[in-house]
Amino acid sequence: MNLNEIKGVGPKVIEKLNKLNIQTKKELISFYPFRYEVIKRSDKSEFIDQNKVIIDGILENNAISFRIKKNLDKMTFSLNIGFKLIKVVIFNRGFLRTNLKAGTKIYIIGKYDLKNNTIIANDIFFGHLSDKAVIEPIYHTVKGITSKNINLLINNAFKNYTMVDYIPDYLSNKYNFLTKKLSINEIHNPSNDGTLKKAILRTKYEELFKFLFKITLLKNEHEIEKSLKRNIDRKKIDDFIKTLPFTLTDDQIKSVDEICADLVSNKRMNRLLQGDVGSGKTIVSIISMYINFLSGYQSALMAPTEILAIQHFNNTKKLLEPFGLRIGLLTGKLKSKDRKELLKKIYNNEIDIIIGTHALISEDVIYPSLGLVITDEQHRFGVNQRGILRNKGIKPDILYMSATPIPRTYALTIYGDMDISSIKTMPIGRKKINTLIKSENEIKDVLSLILNELKLNHQIYVVAPLIEESESSNMNNIDDLKNKFLKAFGKNYCVEAIHGKMKNEEKEEIMNKFKENKINILISTTVIEVGIDVKNATTMVIFDAYKFGLSTLHQLRGRVGRSDLDSYCVLISNTERERLNILQSTQDGFLISEEDFKLRGSGDIFGIKQSGDMVFDLADIRKDYKILLQAKKDSYDLFNLDIYKDVKSEYLKLLGDTNYLN
Ligand code: ADP
Ligand code: MG
Repeated sequence: MNLNEIKGVGPKVIEKLNKLNIQTKKELISFYPFRYEVIKRSDKSEFIDQNKVIIDGILENNAISFRIKKNLDKMTFSLNIGFKLIKVVIFNRGFLRTNLKAGTKIYIIGKYDLKNNTIIANDIFFGHLSDKAVIEPIYHTVKGITSKNINLLINNAFKNYTMVDYIPDYLSNKYNFLTKKLSINEIHNPSNDGTLKKAILRTKYEELFKFLFKITLLKNEHEIEKSLKRNIDRKKIDDFIKTLPFTLTDDQIKSVDEICADLVSNKRMNRLLQGDVGSGKTIVSIISMYINFLSGYQSALMAPTEILAIQHFNNTKKLLEPFGLRIGLLTGKLKSKDRKELLKKIYNNEIDIIIGTHALISEDVIYPSLGLVITDEQHRFGVNQRGILRNKGIKPDILYMSATPIPRTYALTIYGDMDISSIKTMPIGRKKINTLIKSENEIKDVLSLILNELKLNHQIYVVAPLIEESESSNMNNIDDLKNKFLKAFGKNYCVEAIHGKMKNEEKEEIMNKFKENKINILISTTVIEVGIDVKNATTMVIFDAYKFGLSTLHQLRGRVGRSDLDSYCVLISNTERERLNILQSTQDGFLISEEDFKLRGSGDIFGIKQSGDMVFDLADIRKDYKILLQAKKDSYDLFNLDIYKDVKSEYLKLLGDTNYLN
């Protein structure tokens, strides 16, 4: 399955593929084009001002390129297209210059500018156009590898690759699907529009069918009656709630009640607790763990990042240790001796609450009396990970927490039977976050706002989409921003940067310093996206805000406005300001997620693409909703109908044998 087995792939290419998040042959083959270009030579009559044209020709001279500014270069040459000479301008392709000598045959796609007899090209390809229309797959690329190269590598990888077909035969026949092999080949090398559409449909269906079958499997497990028995002492719970430094909101109380009812019922709890960032889900989970403790069981709380796990650990400790609970923290970076000791304590029931990252689901962690499993930011965990944890030990009750609600109709379709508790109101005392949209030209205003806040001893988050400089884009990156902010504020204030490529210890140290107000300005990628709680941080500045989905921006914004201080969120963007206006007009995460869904489909709704649920290579749960419904029905039937009994057991084996657990 290794990439280096593919013809034409050496260490350099591997490095580039890795940048595109491709680590295995399988990932390479499912690295689908993000769009297609129908390539057909434009004829003379199409050379109208500002028209899109596709034309081939021969270079008259060697291309010249020059740098306009950092991350922006411009290349020009003159092209003989048969009936005339035209000038071609293309940006950020300087790296191709040495291949573009007089006499080179190329074709380009771009916009024609009549006055200057110039084509501003978006794309440039080597060779000539064929006389009939072709559909060209266009892939995401990084510097040094072209869309064509990627296509070639995929085709090489594909040659002797055996793949597993996840659509049972009877369904393939019913829908008259192309074979898997044909479909994948067609997606990468389209022959015509009709076949391509069929190939895409088949591939989407397969992704959705496989996913929904697993969901059906999980659902089925939870229908099983549980063996846990609980008597809930409401007075003790109320006494605990009285010790909290604040009064619970009505929705928090309602959620606690709903969870209580689930815990005593004889069905397994399978509940999603959703509520906006900052709405106070954590305390509900802590109360739930206390309830679980009172009936004599262990609880596990799984967080998606180490920073968040530590924060939960500290919170829980502060509130529950006084009541005699023993709380442990299990993360990937625990030293092996400490880890062993902790596992032993868990095994001996000397720990009541165990909090951690997905280290919690390692095989060697044995919970003798696990009664409740909680996952924070559940969308970040895959179905499989959830499956493992819920099956540890004695089939515990499950509570998922999420700050990125998916719209209810979709949630119901996908989770079906999952019960949902919603926290819709914020704790009292919170003020509206002032949301501003600025272009980069207005950066001075932003800097003076920051300075004002710094003078009040408040802290600032600055977020940028990229870690390091990238040749293929001129977006802001962390390094650059850090330097800029150091220049502007470094004299009097402490500026630090944090990003996902840092070691965990480093990240943690910086986060802790930020929490202790020893860092005034924290520059980061979306590392801080989930769950971090620093009340003194009042200002969030997001560069290149157009890059993010609304839900992600809303989550980021939720890092501030966590107290009664005035707070600000500044979205810096030169484009897409209309879309961003939605954030200015509302602070309701449910509404924002609906809008996001409408505008961008599911692709971004879960923030950065991670190993979470519903991150499909091709399918999109909103746009492909019809396919999803059909796949749901089919997977349900396969699971439940007697006539498919044998197919089902084969299918379970297929999932088990291949990648049910990864
Ligand atoms: P999220 O729902 O995003 O996980 P948290 O649970 O982190 O939110 O809560 C955000 C902040 O609000 C925390 O500092 C928490 O202590 C505080 N908080 C939670 N509930 C209340 C409440 N009812 N009144 C006041 N503050 C609260
Ligand atoms: Mg949270």
